[in-house]
Amino acid sequence: MAQYTPPLRDMQFVLHEVLGATERLRELPAHAEVTRELADQVIEEGGKFCAQVLFPLNRSGDEAGCTWSADGSVRTPEGFKEAWEQFKAGGWPTLTCAPEFGGQGLPHSIGMTFNEMLNSANQAWAMYPGLTHGAYDCLKTHGTPEQKALYLPRLVSGQWTGTMCLTEPHCGTDLGLLRSKAEPNADGSFAITGTKIFISSGEHDLAENIVHLVLARLPDAPAGTKGISLFIVPKFVPGADGRVGARNGIRCGRLEEKMGIHANATCEMNLEGATGWLVGEPNKGLNAMFVMMNAARIGVGMQSLGLMEVAYQNSLAYAKDRLQMRSLTGPKAPEKPADPIIVHPDVRRMLLTQKAWVEGSRCFAAWLALQADIAEGHPDADERKAAHDLLSLLTPVCKAFITDNGFASTNLALQVFGGHGYIREWGMEQYVRDARINMIYEGTNTIQSLDLLGRKVLGDNGAKLKAFGRLIQEFVEEEGTNEDMAEFVNPLADLGEKVTKLSMEIGMKALGNADEAGAAAVDYLRVVGHLVYSYFWARMAKVALARVQADPDAAEPFYRAKLATARFYFARLQPETAALIRTARSGAASLMALEAELF
Ligand SMILES: Cc1cc2nc3c(=O)[nH]c(=O)nc-3n(C[C@H](O)[C@H](O)[C@H](O)COP(=O)(O)OP(=O)(O)OC[C@H]3O[C@@H](n4cnc5c(N)ncnc54)[C@H](O)[C@@H]3O)c2cc1C
Repeated sequence: MAQYTPPLRDMQFVLHEVLGATERLRELPAHAEVTRELADQVIEEGGKFCAQVLFPLNRSGDEAGCTWSADGSVRTPEGFKEAWEQFKAGGWPTLTCAPEFGGQGLPHSIGMTFNEMLNSANQAWAMYPGLTHGAYDCLKTHGTPEQKALYLPRLVSGQWTGTMCLTEPHCGTDLGLLRSKAEPNADGSFAITGTKIFISSGEHDLAENIVHLVLARLPDAPAGTKGISLFIVPKFVPGADGRVGARNGIRCGRLEEKMGIHANATCEMNLEGATGWLVGEPNKGLNAMFVMMNAARIGVGMQSLGLMEVAYQNSLAYAKDRLQMRSLTGPKAPEKPADPIIVHPDVRRMLLTQKAWVEGSRCFAAWLALQADIAEGHPDADERKAAHDLLSLLTPVCKAFITDNGFASTNLALQVFGGHGYIREWGMEQYVRDARINMIYEGTNTIQSLDLLGRKVLGDNGAKLKAFGRLIQEFVEEEGTNEDMAEFVNPLADLGEKVTKLSMEIGMKALGNADEAGAAAVDYLRVVGHLVYSYFWARMAKVALARVQADPDAAEPFYRAKLATARFYFARLQPETAALIRTARSGAASLMALEAELF
């Protein structure tokens, strides 16, 4: 059976020691009162809820899955509803929501740590509140005052949940092909007809009502993405007082059978003249939906971070316990019939790879969440814009790099178990299955890489990338005279220069042939991902090094482990960039030469 212990120490290290989060938050009027103690208390209590309530339901939920009935209702696995009630009673859905709608108004940087733990404990369960929070974000930004008053307090409290209904059978990535129709009704509402597929949390028995955010076309809408509008389509039409009324014409036609996240209901949703209300302006629905999609992309990164952490913890415990063969350099546990497998260099490679991805991702994610806090609440408009730009640049990296590494990492965790990882008993194969979807939904990782290279980097002539580069430059200059930091700073500075050159080179080639950008994008995102991780690993190493050097004997062993992992990252993972830069530079020709019929 798998185990999970919330990684509180590492979360505190990242938030307090590396990022100085509460000091930074003090600049923001809404969060000026947030102290370390408060942050730690929330994380600790959140961790208890995740480990004690959600984690025990992870395996049973995977085995039972959701159940669909012919009346269109869906039952979640045993224990899910009770966990939802406890979640609500503890005020957990309100954590980072605005106080005016019943939220606690805590910063995203604290919410992010809770999000990670939810996903370590039970990704499938965590998707119900995850999508609800996305719907809250979207309506908070684009809803009318009446829509906000009616829907937001109920989404915040967890009385109602939310979904995002974009995908249709013939269109996933290319939403411009979308066909669902919205016909105006006399009373200002719309009658919406169409079929949406793969809708996560589309139907279930957790909450009183489900608020679907649906993309559809108005009768006079232009073709393509410029003709898409966004509508609220509640499962039960509420009165102005919030009491649920008539059943609306949106029903779950079936559940998908799938590889992982069995306990999350993936629904085909049929809309037959369902009553909906326009959100935002007509034909600007995709823009409005982007609020939800951007938040969800970071949320998906957190899903993989959570899975990596729990899988790592289990593979580490196993590697210390499982006895096989002797160390190449002679017995390390001579009193036992064989050595624990953690003595073997390659088992260590697998463990350290996971550890480096997990801890690098956690630091990156917490920093990104801090940028979200600053972008939302800094009194200075320039600071808000700078944070917003960084968030926008690195959202696709958070989604794609963390989920690619998350899948690789959970696979390594399984591998550490040998054959015992492949069978169900230890729970490792579930993590691999669950982690796989994170590379696909919310825009596949290929689409994230096109977004990064095309829109975020080339789209503004590298301005946002340069802003991130300046942070690196400042760090490199600050640490440039510290010889002990050279092993971390030099590869960081070197990669920074290479990324600048590579971006310019691809940009030039893409001017002549747009396929050049498409051919380079996936490798490019991975290289930028490494630049981001190099920066955060160097920053973490700096803090750890200072603690170890200040008092080598008294320093908490945690810091030595951090330094060793930073060294491993730069020695064994970052060098992947050399090959990636080569393949990114190899151009489109080798991909495009073969006619489709000759494949
Ligand atoms: C379990 C699950 C839950 C989901 N939850 C939701 C949800 O809640 N709401 C919702 O609306 N949708 C949801 N989805 C849908 C999901 O977002 C889509 O599956 C995803 O966006 C990809 O679309 P597609 O499956 O149609 O693949 P396609 O768009 O057909 O793509 C197929 C392949 O082609 C590639 N490709 C497409 N276009 C390009 C291009 N221009 N350049 C390079 N490569 C390209 C893709 O990367 C992919 O590898 C869910 C899907 C699953 C499986």
